[in-house]
Amino acid sequence: MQDRFGRQISYLRISVTDRCNLRCLYCMPEEGVAFQPHSEVLRYEEIVRLAQVAVGLGITRLRLTGGEPLVRRDVVDLVRALSHLPGVEEVALTTNATLLAEYARPLKEAGLARVNVSLDSLRPERYREITRGGDLSRVWAGIAAAEEAGLSPIKVNAVIVRGLNDDELEDFVRLAAERNLHVRFIELMALGESARWQPRGYVPSAELKERLAGLLARSPLQKGEGGLPGAGPAEYYQVSPGGTVGFISPVSNHFCQSCNRLRLTAVGTLRPCLLSEREVDVKSALRRGADEAELRRLFLQAVEIKPGKQELPQCCPELGAQGEAAASGEGGAGGGRERKGRLMSQIGG
Ligand code: SAM
Ligand code: SF4
Repeated sequence: MQDRFGRQISYLRISVTDRCNLRCLYCMPEEGVAFQPHSEVLRYEEIVRLAQVAVGLGITRLRLTGGEPLVRRDVVDLVRALSHLPGVEEVALTTNATLLAEYARPLKEAGLARVNVSLDSLRPERYREITRGGDLSRVWAGIAAAEEAGLSPIKVNAVIVRGLNDDELEDFVRLAAERNLHVRFIELMALGESARWQPRGYVPSAELKERLAGLLARSPLQKGEGGLPGAGPAEYYQVSPGGTVGFISPVSNHFCQSCNRLRLTAVGTLRPCLLSEREVDVKSALRRGADEAELRRLFLQAVEIKPGKQELPQCCPELGAQGEAAASGEGGAGGGRERKGRLMSQIGG
């Protein structure tokens, strides 16, 4: 699938649930999240059917996310079904790792290639505070189990928030070097719950690099160096023979130009861009008994409305109204509907 800007769309991120066993400060409110009723959430066979259609259109890589994907029952079965679809080159998972210790081996056996672990503090008390109750020792157990199961390379994603965890930068670099992990610092985006954190909490990658200058090589790795699959939008620095530190800069340096992804939300809409509110409803068609051709058409419609950088509202922190719909809005060229104010956990981060 090629979009209007010549980008090849080959990557589908699938949110398998909007629920989570943590409540990270910048991602979900502590209380009062209105979870979708089970009937609204895509069933596994529906996800597999849609993935099949996507693969038929050129998607080769799938990533399961959420919410927390490991809280959904029988997620291993979903991984097995997806990884056995002809044409799927890789199924990966983004997780908070609190349940990974028990799932790592079965996931690997089911065909999962690798995991990205979200971890914003290396200090138990602070981790508990940021996640509102998380137990850091379970994350370490999850990472160890993933290493043992061969779910590698393991990427550790840390969203850096000023005044919350930006005094741990050097500790994260040491972690990457000593454990041969790939730590990535991610800029905080003003989406959903984080809108109130973002203006003060946002730290641009350039500042992080400056603060870490003494610990990083002068120049980043070139594409293809360092043996990292799914190189994506990060810029990496080698910090040990097996460890790297990366910077993902969705705010200060949009990677729109090279964006190759679509998102399938837990409630069955295709979201072509995290920063645009426009979505295409595929679940209704699926449940009406749509045939392959109609489902393909909906995927192509989602690709058609995938905005280019020039069509996006200025991203955070200039985003202002955070997440205002792409310039053309509902009913504009290519269709799609605006779904305002979804949380990151609902879209599938
Ligand atoms: N629960 C899983 C996890 O935490 O890895 C998967 C879903 S979570 C929404 C995916 C990623 O989105 C996490 O790494 C989280 O830190 C990130 N995220 C959530 N809100 C964000 C924001 N406002 N800006 C940047 N990253 C965010
Ligand atoms: Fe849950 Fe992940 Fe959001 Fe944290 S970032 S609340 S673990 S969905």
